[in-house]
Amino acid sequence: MGRNPVTWLGSPTFPAAARTALADVQLRGNLAHATGTIRAKRAAAVAELPDWERLRRAGEAIKDDVLSQLDVYLEQLERSVTARGGVVHWARDAAEANDIVLGLVRATGAREVVKVKSMATMEIGLNEALAAGGVSAVETDLAELIVQLGDDRPSHILVPAIHRNRSEIRDIFRATMPGVTASLSDRPAELAEAARKHLRRKFLSAKVAISGANFAVADTGSVVVVESEGNGRMCLTLPETLITVMGIEKLVPTWADLEVFLQLLPRSSTAERMNPYTSVWTGVTPGDGPRSFHLVLLDNGRTATLADRVGRQALRCIRCSACLNVCPVYERTGGQAYGSVYPGPIGAILTPQLGAGTSDPQTAALLGSLPFASSLCGACYEVCPVRIDIPEVLVHLRGKAVEAKGRYTPEAVAMAAASWVMASPRRFRLAQRLATVLRPLARRGRIKRLPWPASRWTDSRDVPVPAKETFSAWWRRTRG
Ligand code: SF4
Repeated sequence: MGRNPVTWLGSPTFPAAARTALADVQLRGNLAHATGTIRAKRAAAVAELPDWERLRRAGEAIKDDVLSQLDVYLEQLERSVTARGGVVHWARDAAEANDIVLGLVRATGAREVVKVKSMATMEIGLNEALAAGGVSAVETDLAELIVQLGDDRPSHILVPAIHRNRSEIRDIFRATMPGVTASLSDRPAELAEAARKHLRRKFLSAKVAISGANFAVADTGSVVVVESEGNGRMCLTLPETLITVMGIEKLVPTWADLEVFLQLLPRSSTAERMNPYTSVWTGVTPGDGPRSFHLVLLDNGRTATLADRVGRQALRCIRCSACLNVCPVYERTGGQAYGSVYPGPIGAILTPQLGAGTSDPQTAALLGSLPFASSLCGACYEVCPVRIDIPEVLVHLRGKAVEAKGRYTPEAVAMAAASWVMASPRRFRLAQRLATVLRPLARRGRIKRLPWPASRWTDSRDVPVPAKETFSAWWRRTRG
């Protein structure tokens, strides 16, 4: 599968991809079922906590503090990790991070590595870079394994194979998993057992594991991975070498701060009170776990994002995926239409920022289309555990996208015309009077079709019928 950092190589713009996705009835059925279920569970899990809103505000404040002195906390983390026997590497972009990881794996002589599910390594296209260097990476998260075996793209942050149903997964296992026969059914227990046997062999033979990180505590140098299956725990403890690739924004200052996120994350992501597996390691400990630990700190567009006063709040994200599950656009198109490893509302604001400055015109077109992949209903902001005002960032990025197109786009011309009309009370009254000529076009209280160029608007939306009498005319008549 071709990759470009952050986006999938050759992906069309969001509207083009969404059109294809919307025609897939099976996909829409799978998504509606999955997101509907997790939405209801999350709401119940969150409702159990009377101080949920205070927790959200605490999470927001901690992340904002980290972002405001990121350099200080990062250097503190480096000192803490190094003091406990780990090695810290700094990577400006995807290419640097991939080179570092490949070099570390080669130094061990390993030809195969096991991986814990990680958005950061997917963002940089690590699996493809390792394959090009002669190293195969085995995904050990069940959903990620399904995506990898199916030579597919993930479509959800937490449940990458959310677009697949049980019988599709059975077919993938039958076709690609060593030792699986045609007798495998689509019963969840049988599917899980097949994956468990396959992965157990990989865990026991792996010399190197690669993980991402949900959090790192600057104070002690501890790195944290939360997961539900136990595969992560196997990867983090069995191999001799552990390499972690972590975005530089994943820091928390202290263990007391970590406590806030260990409450916010599970309820927002899997609707659980706490994670089944929370693995924490601090450097290396002789006789216990990996003998060498490398932490690769990844920038890849994050410091540029930090420079944007509105857009930087996207760096608060803890990848819970709650915003995906409530988004009416995501629910209908699925994640692959976003053309990025980060789908849904967070993808619509993070991907264009991380990928900004691309020299590839097709990628630039995709990035420019993503902030428009939203109805701006605000549901994402309401559920976000770290209070990222996604609609605000969407509008901000839309403004940048429109400005980048120049002054003579249809939007710019329409806005300039609206501004000219509204700048004068006389012109505004005249425009209101002219609008009433549209009334005969109304059917059942809506205008469904207008002539070109307004047809570009009515192709996908209705227009409200102009009132018989304007507000100012009514005011003059009744109060004058
Ligand atoms: S933006 Fe908020 S809701 Fe969406 S994945 Fe990130 S933390 Fe979760």
